[in-house]
Order: sequence, then structure tokens, then C-alpha cells
Amino acid sequence: MYADLHIHTNYSDGIYSPKEILSRAHNANLKKIAITDHDNFSGSIEASKILKKSDFSLELIPGVEFSCSDGIEEYHIIGLFIDFENHEIKNLISKMQIKRYESIKKILNFLELKDINLSFDNVISYSKGSIGRPHIALELLNKGYVKSVNEAFEKFLSNNHIKNIKEPRMGVLEAIEAIKKSNGISVWAHPNINSSDFYEKINSFKEFGISGVEVHSPRYGLNRQKELLKICNELNLVTSGGSDFHGMHEGIEISQSNAISKSEFDSILKLAKSS
Ligand SMILES: [Zn+2]
Repeated sequence: MYADLHIHTNYSDGIYSPKEILSRAHNANLKKIAITDHDNFSGSIEASKILKKSDFSLELIPGVEFSCSDGIEEYHIIGLFIDFENHEIKNLISKMQIKRYESIKKILNFLELKDINLSFDNVISYSKGSIGRPHIALELLNKGYVKSVNEAFEKFLSNNHIKNIKEPRMGVLEAIEAIKKSNGISVWAHPNINSSDFYEKINSFKEFGISGVEVHSPRYGLNRQKELLKICNELNLVTSGGSDFHGMHEGIEISQSNAISKSEFDSILKLAKSS
């Protein structure tokens, strides 16, 4: 197999640096990868600078994964071949970062009521790109309130009040349109084919202008891949996929078995060039 188009770094919720991701992809003998951190491009930009100085025969596709909602449900939309300099998409990234800051402040205020005093500046200092609850967990660990990140989640960050402070999402339509305006290809990441409104959603996302669907993912069995492939063919959507590697889930690696074929990649590339 050829290309892994869904990888996270420590610029969102992955644990490895862009440099480590590049060497893992090189060792897996992949030809193309996309770093698709949540709501930010910083890891991908850093990786492209490192790649230019390296002798890896690997191409980096500019990517991102947007956290979205449609109604009450959460969806993830991947953007590939994005122009990172496009104003529309840069504005969307800044808007999301401000919303993420607001939700972090709400959680810190709630913790303060429980006599847990954490500094907002310290929390954001852990984040290289998009900020989230793992960075609060790190500060809880740093201040000695807990002995591990897991304990921080179990003890402080999983109660219902905090769960109700939702991480910010953008609309699916908003994400698809911004990706399109930045000359990118939008892909529905890891869709749940078993959900009762799957067909309704895929049709409505297609109307919104989505270009493709992740068909290859370590989360799926072969049957589910076949079913998704058939649906994509019927709806004339490109097929994408990747490991969704974060570095912390057992058995999920950047590898040939979690990648897409050259012909699938070429179809995405062709579409990107024509858009
Ligand atoms: Zn992901």
C-alpha cells in the first residue's frame, strides 16, 4: 500500500513529534502521508520543513482534521491538499482556537470551585497546536493533584458537569466549504455505517460538497470496508483512509496495512488538481 492520509502529532492529541512521525512513515516504506491534526496545521508545517532537509523519499500532503457537529452528533472532516495560506481557512482555525480557550477557562473555573487552582497560562503552555483536556491533565499532574494523566481524567475531567462543557465544534458545512475554498479535498473520517441515519448523513454531506469518505481504517473490518467502497462508488465519492495514528492505541501503527493504494491516492490527487 502507498499512502496514510490520517495521522496525528503532538500538535493535537498525538504523542509523537512531526519528526518522529516522518521517520515512522519512512520506516513503513510509505510514499505519501498527511498529518491531520485537530483544528490546526502547525505540526504539518513543521514536518514539511523537516522533510525538506531530510533524504526521505516521502511526500507530505497538507492536511487537517476538523471537529464538527451536525445536529447533536459529532463528525470529523479531514481536509487534504489544503492551501495553508488561504485566509478563509486560517480564520476558521483562529476562531476554533478562541473557542477552545473559552472552554478550557470554563473547566478551570469549575475546578476552582473544588479548590483546585490551575493557571490558564500554564495549561496553554503544554499545547503546541490545538488545546484540549489533556493539557489540563498535564497541569493537574504537574501541580501534584494526581499521579498520572489517566488519574487526572478519572478523578477530575470525566464528571458530568465537565463533560457538558463541550469541546468546540464547527458545522460540517462550514468545514467542507472552508476546505473547498482553500483548494482542498474534504473527506468524512471514520463514518459509523451502523448509525441509523448514516445514509441520510452521507447524502446530506454530499450535497454540502464532500469529496470522499474514509474507507480504509484500522477501526473497520473487511466487510465494512467493502460496504463503504460500494456506497462511495454509487455516490461517486473518492475513497481515502489511514491509520488515525495517535501513538497511544495498542495495535494501531503507521503501516502499509493501514494505508490506501496508489490508484486511490491518484484519484484523490486528480480531484485536487481539478478543483
Ligand atoms: Zn483523527
